[in-house]
Amino acid sequence: MKIMNYLREDGPEEQPRVEQGLSTKEALKRQKTAGKNQLAGREQVHPFRIFLCQFKDFLTLVLLGGTVVSVVTGEFTEALTIAVIILLNGLLGFIQEYRTERTLEALKKMAAPRARVWRDGMLTALPAEELVPGDRLSLEAGDRVPADCLILEAAALQADESLLTGESAAASKEAAGQHPAPGNEPGRKDLLYMGTTLTAGRAVGEVVAIGMETQMGKIAGMLRDIPREDTPLQKRLDQLGKTIAAGCLIICAIVAAAGALRGEPLFTMLMTGISLAVAAVPEGLPAIVTVSLALAVRRMVKRKALVRRLAAVETLGCTDVICSDKTGTLTQNRMTAVRLYLPFDDITVEDSDQPFLLEGRRIDPLRSEAGREALTVFALCSDASEGPDGFIGDPTETALAALAAKAGLLPSRMTHLRRTGELPFDSVRKRMSVEVEDRNGERTLLCKGGCDLILSRCTTIRTAQGPAALDQRMRQRILDAANAMASEGLRVLAAASRPLAPNEKLSEQSEEGLCFLGLAGMMDPPRPEVREAVRSCRRAGIRTVMITGDHQLTARAIAGQVGIWHKGDRVLTGAELDRMSEEELGRAVEETSVYARVSPRHKLMIVRALKKRGHITAMTGDGVNDAPAVREADIGVAMGISGTDVTREASDLVLLDDNFATLEAAVEEGRAIYQNIRKFIRYLLSCNIGEVLTMFLGILMGMPVVLLPIHILLVNLVTDGLPAIALGLEPAEKDIMRRPPRGSSEGIFAGGLLSRILFRGCLIGLTTLFVFGHFLGTADLVTARSAALLTLVLTQLIHVFECKSEEHTILSIPLFNNLKLLAASAFSALTAFAALYWPPFARLMETAPLSMENLLFIGVCLLAAPVLSILTGRLFTEKAPGRRKKTDAPSQEQKQKKSRGFRIRGFRPCKPSRP
Ligand code: ATP
Repeated sequence: MKIMNYLREDGPEEQPRVEQGLSTKEALKRQKTAGKNQLAGREQVHPFRIFLCQFKDFLTLVLLGGTVVSVVTGEFTEALTIAVIILLNGLLGFIQEYRTERTLEALKKMAAPRARVWRDGMLTALPAEELVPGDRLSLEAGDRVPADCLILEAAALQADESLLTGESAAASKEAAGQHPAPGNEPGRKDLLYMGTTLTAGRAVGEVVAIGMETQMGKIAGMLRDIPREDTPLQKRLDQLGKTIAAGCLIICAIVAAAGALRGEPLFTMLMTGISLAVAAVPEGLPAIVTVSLALAVRRMVKRKALVRRLAAVETLGCTDVICSDKTGTLTQNRMTAVRLYLPFDDITVEDSDQPFLLEGRRIDPLRSEAGREALTVFALCSDASEGPDGFIGDPTETALAALAAKAGLLPSRMTHLRRTGELPFDSVRKRMSVEVEDRNGERTLLCKGGCDLILSRCTTIRTAQGPAALDQRMRQRILDAANAMASEGLRVLAAASRPLAPNEKLSEQSEEGLCFLGLAGMMDPPRPEVREAVRSCRRAGIRTVMITGDHQLTARAIAGQVGIWHKGDRVLTGAELDRMSEEELGRAVEETSVYARVSPRHKLMIVRALKKRGHITAMTGDGVNDAPAVREADIGVAMGISGTDVTREASDLVLLDDNFATLEAAVEEGRAIYQNIRKFIRYLLSCNIGEVLTMFLGILMGMPVVLLPIHILLVNLVTDGLPAIALGLEPAEKDIMRRPPRGSSEGIFAGGLLSRILFRGCLIGLTTLFVFGHFLGTADLVTARSAALLTLVLTQLIHVFECKSEEHTILSIPLFNNLKLLAASAFSALTAFAALYWPPFARLMETAPLSMENLLFIGVCLLAAPVLSILTGRLFTEKAPGRRKKTDAPSQEQKQKKSRGFRIRGFRPCKPSRP
């Protein structure tokens, strides 16, 4: 049999073909003339415009108008004070918004596509904008083409060009001939166009046009940047803000009118009403949510999770099922071939540094025909390339190539075999074949892939005497050997081959009737941090599920090692999923912790079934075919290192280190940020209620106007400004991952938050009024106002610390773990005292200093609100938010029941539909 004769020929030693590409120097030179590979984008907003925008709010404009009137009527100092306060407020808003812009801009840059390009003879990943004409690129299925390129090499190449042509069917592409036509006109088969995606195959391309010179650039005018979309929470808070604003405006109008009717000067009362409105209307609510989300996004990047859509941060906190890939995410993706199985000898490689051992004795696998041929398949049916420090490429392939190299088979030395065709690996086929031609023109197909899949395509087996028919007994023996390896958590790949007839074309049909050669078992140890991350998720009420293309026994063994699979859990294969009815699948997803031998379309089935059961699902993916499942999941997660551009673009979150533990960290951050948003909503609203109530009740009770406009604006500046921002920066509460996930239909006010806000707001207002009333009776109006001003500021600053936790009272939470909050509160308190005790400031504010005795009195009054809150806290905490244990899909009725407390209709975070 001549099938493997070619293997015996040892050709002359030749250097491996290495792509040189451009030198960095040459690339920089070309960049100077050609510019960057960018499409003309949207102009950035100038910081000054952002600053001006802070004053475009109607109420602020009216207030500014009022100050102009004050100047005209000679009230210089008051007008100036108001103007300065408004300016400071605007500055604060500007700093926040500018930082948010910068953060989001920086993130956009991080999420920008990268290209694999040869520079100085090395394949490196560069930002796509660095490409210049002449650069050599390596492209594969799932990549977005970063510039217009001439195809130099192509294997089973297909591209989705619908973006340019509108044609949804993928276009076949092929390598250019000897003398390709110049230019980059559309519709050419030997060109890949910027912005299109590779749906199959592999290519090497040379950049022929960049930036606005590309076909995409020519239509760039038609493509606008995707407008920034508000998250559902922002939209709903915006609505809430408007409702509250309407209420506030009415009350402020009543305050102003009542004061005027009682004989107060009309202009002063108008200014009081407007100042109160400016202070009380929470127009900054959505803005602060954006700031907090942006800051959370920055924190997440530090933990290696890149958020691509702000809305994802909200949804992360609701996640209750995480579907994770195995290879690279739960494991290290550092494959080492530790076993080589030949049908008649069981040869064990104990360690990659060790020689081949058979029952403790050294052996040379090349002396066995099957061994030589199997290792040849592992060396040549591969895209791994030889680098200075070993093989470079897909870890499975580099491990197999290293195994062959250890036996003495180096691809660079096997030059008598020329690769003449390729059927690339993909996660649906789960195998790869190449066609090689020897010097006599005889062609052979070399194939490797999952053992079960290859074995079913084999009809013969390589024995020492040559190929023999593969009988049932032998099949079983091979399967037993493969299963034994898989049960140890090893990835098992089989090698097979077949001669190709002279006119036979390489195709899926030619991957039949193969001759079985041998198996390799590869170890890929779990990431050490994963076990703890899975446990932490479990404690947090989040179920982790493994979905892998690998064999069920390998998958189960690894899942057992990382704590995903427990005795009694179900393991399902893709084939079993295919046989299930929708109902069966719905039940199965509740009990299954490992899905093995699945294809990307199974991932989609699983996500849909989980979503139908009411689960909020995070799904990881890397390959081009994973994109639909990633897009469908509530949180689509792509891999930063191994992921394809297409999947990354479909995702909400990118794991920059491909690590499962990072996903767990992102969920923790997602929970923390939602809590922080609730914290400052609680703080802002209760403070605003307190302020409005003080003024409103004061008027109703026939008291003089409690606070002057400048007082109200000062209170607003020092309490709503820095402390509120600092509250948004609270670190996650320690037990945040010990609580169940929040229900996705749960309103922002769930868990009795609104009643808490109302109650505490009333306490703030009543305390201030009580103090004001007391001093009115014992001292003059200026002293009473000064006392009310101080009380209103301090009682809010105490409340900011209460807002640090919903679960715990102020007595049992760490008060000093947020230095920014401490600093902001101290600064605000000092400003309030300065407004009374620093004569120039006091003159401006029309206040008077208070005696020690009076301060003590205020101190005692200040304690009343927190004490009452602690005593009544139980009333509210009993309804703390959390998700019920999910055993069945929630009915509509159950969903409605969940909207407990003071939930506002339609006020729930959910994933927005995507274009
Ligand atoms: P994950 O667990 O992240 O889904 P996976 O590596 O298990 O990834 P795939 O990469 O889709 O899933 O691989 C599925 C199967 O295909 C593997 O179990 C293996 O049998 C086979 N396989 C993997 N890589 C190759 C390759 N380069 N050539 C041939 N077969 C391969």
